[in-house]
Amino acid sequence: MGNQPEIPFDKDKRLKDDDTFQFSCHPGLECFTGCCYDLTLVLTPYDIFRLKKHLGMSSDEFLKKYTTTHVGPESGLPVVQLKMEGSYQKCPFLDEEKGCMVYEDRPGACRTYPLARMAVRSKDKDEVEEFYMIIKDPDCLGFKEKKIWTVKEWKEHEGLEIYNQMNDLFGELLQARQQSGIAYLHADQIELFYLACYNLDEFKKFFLEGPNLDRYMEPEEVIEKISNDDLELFKFALNWAKKKIFSGTCSFCALKGKCPSK
Ligand code: SF4
Ligand code: SF4
Repeated sequence: MGNQPEIPFDKDKRLKDDDTFQFSCHPGLECFTGCCYDLTLVLTPYDIFRLKKHLGMSSDEFLKKYTTTHVGPESGLPVVQLKMEGSYQKCPFLDEEKGCMVYEDRPGACRTYPLARMAVRSKDKDEVEEFYMIIKDPDCLGFKEKKIWTVKEWKEHEGLEIYNQMNDLFGELLQARQQSGIAYLHADQIELFYLACYNLDEFKKFFLEGPNLDRYMEPEEVIEKISNDDLELFKFALNWAKKKIFSGTCSFCALKGKCPSK
């Protein structure tokens, strides 16, 4: 269940927490695992954070083995997609007998399905408003099952809260890009964005071990926290990228030849 470009949303329904929908997915269904083929699955930074931990890999190894990257034509930012396998374009994490092999850490889009989350950050208030739409996949038999969920119950059941929180942080970065007024990003800025958002282990080396003056601008407690807590490092990296690339104080030129993503 990826973020496919032509997702058949039910546009008439904007669901909030107490609204209900009818759905159940289980191995008894004829379509079971059918939706894990031939899909475009865009990964968010937090998806990668969870998947690479689950697989015991570094972010660099994960990105090389499982993803492709292109620069989005509108945003000018890197877009990371899961690399599908073989002529049937199977998700690499699908075991045809056992189902999803990364279930506890599967991407947010897989967890949220059959819903899709729409999040809008208001300009005046520092808060995100969300609603959900139903993805009407005609091949999905889960809609014929009798189980009724509220959106709130589904979010709890699928462990979506932390995914939504971390994706909203990433959303802030995307919004900063929109508001920056920068028409084109320099190749070094694109690499820096990729490093901070997706290649966290290399960002850690770059920031904490490399010849990086910014490290000395941070209070010791912050350095201590991001050195020892990967989720804190993840949040720090997104905020750092926002500040460095889109606040007009980017020092990307100073990184030339030093950025480990090169
Ligand atoms: S019910 Fe829908 S989500 Fe579940 S396996 Fe079938 S197609 Fe996929
Ligand atoms: S990550 Fe899991 S649920 Fe998502 S497409 Fe792959 S096998 Fe299916």
